[in-house]
Amino acid sequence: MASIRYADFHRRSLEDRDGFWREQAALIDWHQPFSQVCDYANPPFARWFVGGQTNLCHNAVDRHLADRPDQNALIWVSTEVDKETVYTYRQLHAEVQRMAASLLALGVRKGDRVLVYMPMIPEAAFAMLACARIGAIHSVVFGGFASVSLASRIDDAEPTVVVSADAGSRGGKVVPYKPLLDEAIRLARHKPSNVLMVDRGLSAYDRVEGRDADYAALREQYLDAVVPCTWVDATHPSYTLYTSGTTGKPKGVQRDTGGYAVALAASMKLIYDGRPGETYFSTSDIGWVVGHSYIIYGPLLAGMATIMYEGLPVRPDAGIWWKLVEQYKVTVMFSAPTAVRVLKKQDPAYLSKYDLSSLRALFLAGEPLDEPTAKWIAESLGKPIIDNYWQTETGWPILTICNGVEKAPSKFGSPGKAVYGYDVKLLDEQTGEELKGPNQKGVVAIEGPLPPGCMQTVWRDDKRFVNTYWSSIPSKLVYSTFDWGIRDEDGYFFILGRTDDVINVAGHRLGTREIEESIASHPNVAEVAVVGVADQLKGQVAMAFAVLKDPSKVTTPEATLKLEGEIMKVVDEQLGAVARPARVRFVNLLPKTRSGKLLRRAIQAVCEGRDPGDLTTIEDPSALQTIKELVAAPR
Ligand code: ATP
Ligand code: MG
Repeated sequence: MASIRYADFHRRSLEDRDGFWREQAALIDWHQPFSQVCDYANPPFARWFVGGQTNLCHNAVDRHLADRPDQNALIWVSTEVDKETVYTYRQLHAEVQRMAASLLALGVRKGDRVLVYMPMIPEAAFAMLACARIGAIHSVVFGGFASVSLASRIDDAEPTVVVSADAGSRGGKVVPYKPLLDEAIRLARHKPSNVLMVDRGLSAYDRVEGRDADYAALREQYLDAVVPCTWVDATHPSYTLYTSGTTGKPKGVQRDTGGYAVALAASMKLIYDGRPGETYFSTSDIGWVVGHSYIIYGPLLAGMATIMYEGLPVRPDAGIWWKLVEQYKVTVMFSAPTAVRVLKKQDPAYLSKYDLSSLRALFLAGEPLDEPTAKWIAESLGKPIIDNYWQTETGWPILTICNGVEKAPSKFGSPGKAVYGYDVKLLDEQTGEELKGPNQKGVVAIEGPLPPGCMQTVWRDDKRFVNTYWSSIPSKLVYSTFDWGIRDEDGYFFILGRTDDVINVAGHRLGTREIEESIASHPNVAEVAVVGVADQLKGQVAMAFAVLKDPSKVTTPEATLKLEGEIMKVVDEQLGAVARPARVRFVNLLPKTRSGKLLRRAIQAVCEGRDPGDLTTIEDPSALQTIKELVAAPR
């Protein structure tokens, strides 16, 4: 019975699309009501809430002043500099106006871009909200990026102003930002007219005369600033943000205002079941889409308090997150499997040390949630663990369990069902035909229009939007996620990996993830990456790179060969000899993006002696270098 309710809810969201979203639109304030819910006259470009005017900052901040002025809004906790600052909605309102006035003073106007290159400090949130307030378009660049990545984003966004800070801090070590920014501006074609500097006093820097402005000084000048919200069309861009760059050059995702506000407000209620007055804790970074949607906008739109955490999950100890849950009575938490895996290596006693009774559920997203990780965290926490599948492009979940509609059970390995508003289909990659039966493997695709909140286009590149996302399935205008999936009898999806992670060995199509899972079942394997490498005889062969739990087992060439043989045998037994990797090499570290995703395409390129391409998002280039050397070395 229960499952019928969600199925009905989902069906209605598609069959009565306009009626459904008109209802959700009532969750936010409109300065001017919209005249049309969805304009899809020019597919694949969807325009939501046409004719309506609103403001994201008004809805996230000002709107709550009437009911909850003295309630916590932004809770900033830094274990890097040992500080905790709590801003009520009234205080947040004042800070955002000070920032908005400063940006206006530097000449920022509606439609201008403001690049935010900041550590996880409150001023970053103020800057984002201040942009939304005055109709400027923010483009947050993850603070961990270095000059070249930053320069390419400056050139793409062409910001009037860059908001930055002297430094961030990681694991107690100061990480200067300003020299990287100066170098990026030097490298970039486009020169921003001003840099607004938040000086944390962590790292001395050179001030560029006439360009750099000091935020503390400007803020002082505008302490009592009153900056009204600029009402913008629902379709006015609120921000641009780059994808993680796991599969290639990052794409500049452009998001609207009205659709995004409605989609997030609805998701807070229907997916996260977060209620006004409660506290939401997302452990992401503002540099990623999860940080945009669920550190800043989503919780604030919902009238919740949001925790912004600067620091590592294991410092001062692995109990820090749970301590915050207890202290601020967090009801909804959001993290990533990669972070959970970090905690899994620590003493599980940290999870039982604190009172976690306020917490209703932990949501995870960003990469496949493997069963051992899911089981470990579910058992240690004793709370529902809910997987979310989505993309920077969509801005909010495509697949999950909609907790606020119906508390349906999760299935291990599955992020759940198609979320309301998303017409998710599995398509045959070759023919484009829809695969309707259970357990058939196809490309996860979304029938247009994409629901509110999803990307409008690629920033200044409509052609790339159409060519990249809407042209990969033969004879169909349909959005491709570039992920493989299957759906079981109950409508639960399983993500099988990315479409470019499939390898073809002598005519057999194999998912790299399948081979990885098989190798990972060997007791000494902690983590593994498998890629397909061109082979004259077989077309492609699988190559594996594994991180060992106990590397002391492979200190001699004989022992290394022996372990390699053992692992190959595991694959032979589980998947068959076709899937057996040509080599299994042992490394200390796998190349990953800064958001913790495996860079398979870079490993593949290096194995094939090609240029690995855009590496602007790589966490530690030495990981790739090691692989390069291994591959180059004679057997
Ligand atoms: P790029 O598009 O630049 O190559 P990216 O795809 O890693 O980078 P994101 O938008 O951060 O950039 O990630 C979205 C992708 O992450 C999805 O397409 C999917 O491959 C993977 N992903 C996200 N959540 C999940 C999940 N819950 N389960 C499995 N895979 C997931
Ligand atoms: Mg992607």
